[in-house]
Amino acid sequence: MITVTKPFMPPLEEYLPYLQRIWQNKQLTNNGPFHQQLETELANYLGVKYISLFANATLGLVTALQALGVNGEVITTPFSFVATSHALWWNKITPVFVDIEPDYLNLDPAKIEVAITPQTTAIMPVHVYGNPCHVDEVKRIADKHGLKVIYDAAHAFGVQKDGDSLLNYGDLSVVSFHATKVYSTIEGGAIICHTPEMKHHIDNLKNFGFRDEITVEEPGINAKLNEFQAAYGLLQLKYVDELIDKRKAIAEMYRDLLNDVPGIRLFSDIPGIRHGYAYFPVLIDQKSYGLSRDVLYEKLKESNIFTRRYFFPLISTFEPYAKLPSANPDNLPVATEYANMVLCLPLYADLQNADVQLICSIIKSFI
Ligand SMILES: *Cc1c(COP(=O)(O)O)cnc(C)c1O
Repeated sequence: MITVTKPFMPPLEEYLPYLQRIWQNKQLTNNGPFHQQLETELANYLGVKYISLFANATLGLVTALQALGVNGEVITTPFSFVATSHALWWNKITPVFVDIEPDYLNLDPAKIEVAITPQTTAIMPVHVYGNPCHVDEVKRIADKHGLKVIYDAAHAFGVQKDGDSLLNYGDLSVVSFHATKVYSTIEGGAIICHTPEMKHHIDNLKNFGFRDEITVEEPGINAKLNEFQAAYGLLQLKYVDELIDKRKAIAEMYRDLLNDVPGIRLFSDIPGIRHGYAYFPVLIDQKSYGLSRDVLYEKLKESNIFTRRYFFPLISTFEPYAKLPSANPDNLPVATEYANMVLCLPLYADLQNADVQLICSIIKSFI
């Protein structure tokens, strides 16, 4: 069986000394020594100034919106994991869905401004598959209209734009360390911000809103990362460059093998971008390929190859959002079309060359 992703687990014997230290310290959570060390090491590794670890990225998104006082309406993409809109819902914010662009399936900046109303307070785009949004254009629009920008950067671990971390863009960026992502703390995530004051605010919000032992300033949540996961993250960090290199090699192999298959469109690397290779999406054009995306998905499953249709269905079609005016498919033609074409192929560091060859030969066998 080949799944779309498989976690890299560091050697168990390397984890044991960390566990021994936890048993000695008896500090299990609440900003313990491994938590502090991981924040320092991640800030250095990623090239960001301030980072606050979270129990998961969803709580990070919820807290990021709270930290910036975002309310009313927020412009966002329907082409994402459902947590993007759920974070708005938990803050009683109305998502306003704007269509995506066809090149990298990110929020289309040309369609943002017409969706802005007096209630709009922020834009929340997603760097889908880790491919950068049009960050300069988003910033220009946000500045012009006085809007905040929160990036759902769940896929953007290790991505750099012109040598600078992609996580430095926006007022806040939120990255996920879930087991299925490039870098993992089992469950986990982080908010990246630009000032010590904002980090302090966010750190309070993830700890119930406590400012000090006896002062609660805001209704914060409990979103702290524990010492076991911080230790796991420290260990993962030692391997992550190697993991990204392996992912890159697999992506290149897929590209070589699928390069001229009629009806299969691949995404190329973007010049000036250091990619993290979070996913390997392909677009299936039924007219020239022959089979629909869903039929190919089922055929691969019959061969024990489990791909994922990220992102299908669109968030805007889910029950909590489907009745919003912006969720109308007529408003989202590109997202609607591509959600029916996209397929993410297996991609993880331990995926064998023979498996990649097998997957590609099955895909080619239908032409
Ligand atoms: C994985 C993911 C999330 C949620 O991350 P968790 O850490 O699992 O909460 C949010 N947005 C996107 C785009 C994701 O892929």
